[in-house]
Amino acid sequence: MTASGFDATVLTLYPELFPGPLGVALSGKALETGLWGLKVVDIRHFAHDKHRSVDDTPFGGGAGMVMRADVLGPAIDANHDGAAPLIYFSPRGRLMDQALVEEVRDAGGATLVCGRFEGVDERVLEARPVMEVSLGDFVLSGGEFAAFALLDAVVRLLPGVAGNAESLAEESFADGLLEYPQYTRPREWEGKNPPEVLLSGDHARIRTWRKAEAERITRERRPDLWRRYTSEEGTEQ
Ligand code: SAH
Repeated sequence: MTASGFDATVLTLYPELFPGPLGVALSGKALETGLWGLKVVDIRHFAHDKHRSVDDTPFGGGAGMVMRADVLGPAIDANHDGAAPLIYFSPRGRLMDQALVEEVRDAGGATLVCGRFEGVDERVLEARPVMEVSLGDFVLSGGEFAAFALLDAVVRLLPGVAGNAESLAEESFADGLLEYPQYTRPREWEGKNPPEVLLSGDHARIRTWRKAEAERITRERRPDLWRRYTSEEGTEQ
């Protein structure tokens, strides 16, 4: 590990996509000031035939191309620090959630493999300690978009990146609930006013209202999170 709080290594066929969206705003500033580091590796450098091919047709037939094990394997071996999680983005993987983001942050770094085409030769996933991670139940054209999402979520948790540690503690998922509704100026907009309690200056009442709203929204929208929240509350008592 270097001096930065998090070291990301990204293996991709499209290195020009990086830092992309990670180069602006909070994550961009943090990258500039060394709060995290990003190394981008072009998988194509590990191609060894004269056409520099990285993919081939699938055994057994079928549509599309598959990334070759004899290119991706050496690309991983040359760039992966054994202590860090090695992640391959894939719709078959563990769904990305805040718990995974925190695990990756705690590891201090990660090697992220971005697939393209129909995916990668299965033997690489078996022969290296790969964790498959999915951004959601849909199909992207490449793992790069999942890498942006994971790195953005990790970097904003690093010390010194987000301005206000309190806002991290209060937002969605921090306590297993979705966030309560937020309001700002102007006080009246299209004839609508914010809930009176928020203008009361009574901090205890505001806290109670926000918690009740967070619980209502979670119960209504995400029964899965609500069940986990209520069962965890139960075991704490
Ligand atoms: N044939 C594959 C999809 C390949 S999409 C299938 O049916 O499962 C090409 C690449 O995009 C994948 O190798 C993977 O790295 C990335 N990708 C696609 N969908 C993704 C998702 N939901 N989460 C994370 N990565 C994804």
